[in-house]
Amino acid sequence: MTLAYVGLGANLGDREGTIRRAVELLGAEPGIEIVAVSALRETDPVGYADQPRFLNGATAVETELPPRELLDRLLAVERELGRVRGDGPRDGPRAIDLDLLLFGDEVVDLPGLTVPHPRLAWRRFALEPLYELDPGLRLPDGRAVEPWGVLAAQAQGEGRMTGEGRGQNDKLGPLGEGFMAGHGLQCG
Ligand code: ADP
Ligand code: MG
Repeated sequence: MTLAYVGLGANLGDREGTIRRAVELLGAEPGIEIVAVSALRETDPVGYADQPRFLNGATAVETELPPRELLDRLLAVERELGRVRGDGPRDGPRAIDLDLLLFGDEVVDLPGLTVPHPRLAWRRFALEPLYELDPGLRLPDGRAVEPWGVLAAQAQGEGRMTGEGRGQNDKLGPLGEGFMAGHGLQCG
């Protein structure tokens, strides 16, 4: 069994209803058990600004499935709830977005599946619910899941206008004591 974390997001239609339904559908899948669901919070869109605000949260799941199959289940639930891929801008509006944020302490690098989620360390809207579910949570590389790392990066102008990294910085992100110390900030 693996403890995995799934990011929940929606900015179209009945956002909360769709997210709740997504969690129900996930929990009904063989080999997936819902352990906890974070609070849902309103967040500003990232990347593509001209769209409604998001509702974001995260759920902790125990699973017997390998990461690829868990992602396939997430994408199937997205489809069932009316998400249509391939049209509209990247980071654009969506009825539901389910992202595999963490899969135990495993690092996965497959075509179409990267875990931890490649932009996790830059996304406050994903880090905050993770921190709420487990303030002691760490990435596979040992960095703590600390939303204020992103806050600090944005304050320093390093979080980009979109609030997240792209390209080579995707793998690094603003988290960790090294970053904090480098900006004269204290951890904790
Ligand atoms: P995002 O959620 O990053 O804003 P999308 O939901 O449009 O973007 O996902 C695009 C593709 O990203 C998915 O079809 C999936 O194959 C791929 N992907 C790679 N790694 C992950 C992951 N850890 N979680 C979810 N999707 C992932
Ligand atoms: Mg997604």
